[in-house]
Amino acid sequence: MKKKADKLVFADHLVTMGNGDNGANGDNGDEALGVIDSGGLAIVGDRIEAVGTRIEIEEAYESLEVIEGDNAALIPGLYNTHTHAAMALLRGLSDDVPLKIWLEDHIWPAENKWLSEEFVRDGVRLACLEMLLAGTVGFADMYFFDEVAGEVSKEFGMRAQLFSGVIDFPTKTTSGSDQCIDNARELYERFKNDELIQPAIGAHSAYTCSPETLRKIYSLAKEKNMPFNIHLSETKWEVDEIKQKYGLTPVRHLEKLGFLDKELRAAHCVWVDKEEIEMLAKREVKVAHCVESNLKLASGIAPVPDMLRAGISVSLGTDGAASNNDLDIFGEMRTAALVHKGASNDPECMDAYTVLKMATVNGASAFGLEGTLTPGAHADMVMVSTAGAHMNPVYNICSQIIYSAKSSDVKMVIINGNTLVSDGRVLNADQDEIIDKARYWGTQVKSSRN
Ligand SMILES: [Zn+2]
Repeated sequence: MKKKADKLVFADHLVTMGNGDNGANGDNGDEALGVIDSGGLAIVGDRIEAVGTRIEIEEAYESLEVIEGDNAALIPGLYNTHTHAAMALLRGLSDDVPLKIWLEDHIWPAENKWLSEEFVRDGVRLACLEMLLAGTVGFADMYFFDEVAGEVSKEFGMRAQLFSGVIDFPTKTTSGSDQCIDNARELYERFKNDELIQPAIGAHSAYTCSPETLRKIYSLAKEKNMPFNIHLSETKWEVDEIKQKYGLTPVRHLEKLGFLDKELRAAHCVWVDKEEIEMLAKREVKVAHCVESNLKLASGIAPVPDMLRAGISVSLGTDGAASNNDLDIFGEMRTAALVHKGASNDPECMDAYTVLKMATVNGASAFGLEGTLTPGAHADMVMVSTAGAHMNPVYNICSQIIYSAKSSDVKMVIINGNTLVSDGRVLNADQDEIIDKARYWGTQVKSSRN
């Protein structure tokens, strides 16, 4: 008698990422990549129960819901481990200027004028729509009105890690760091038992949070057992500023304060030297690499191959759409795979499997999840079509996903066992209405600048 499953999913190529072998030493065969040709899996509840060949799964399981992936690859869900989702409404507001001018002359004035709960709700909806259609199953967010971001992610059925932001100076919604920390406590209470939303606390940076504030953030994170994050060594300016203030580089400054920790998620880490990489590795800090944002703002190129060699878990983030200008992890994967080769003259420094692992396994690990298509793992997965001209022929599916696939090839997304995208359409949201609202906000913001 066959066992009952809630869903059976089949695909021409099933990329499990469960092998642990990076296919190094010239062994790039599918076996080393944990790929099952003509594979399938069974989902029961929010978990994957079994994985195997189509024949094995068909013989052992039956289900009322069968999803077929002809001319398609099934991969684990992608994670965006650093973004400011609501900033999607400021996409393209100001481009091709230095970071300081971008922030002080364009982004901050627009936020000061327009930031509201409604703005954040419509902005996060736009961001979730974009991310989900591009195969992102979870995102780490840091902005204002975090509870609104949590409500919207739940509407969509996406995973979100909400870093309630702390900054010393007053903003439109907070009077200083103490109020920010109170907000983080409230966010924790609101979402502490949620299946999809993880409350967390975030230090904006070492130049906007005093050592005392950083200590308070750390102690709340430890008290509530929450992850915490920080923008770290993003620009040369930041390094000079922290050195001038505290006599140490940002990473050494945080090490001295005891802020480096395995629950710390550090975004950027562009300007870090060899010794700092060792410090981050020793403390098991997880790094979010935001390659496109760093390139666009001319902040530099993070030494990711060195971080990976040191054993740091590096994942991928888009940063906000205002500095990218999209929330597309397929784009980040391709850029990351290419930039480091060009920058190091070493074509082997970040192979396709390593980059896919950064977006899946390493991203999931920042959420305390698996990021693999293996028995027992959470049922988070993405079907990528291989039907298009740009996807053929297929010699190595992993390379195809990194170097040829586009986010528009995403046809189906399952998160926590629920189908949220089918036939390239989001099921839980009105796409046209979300885009109309974005246009409305665009008109408002534009009119106030003229
Ligand atoms: Zn950021």
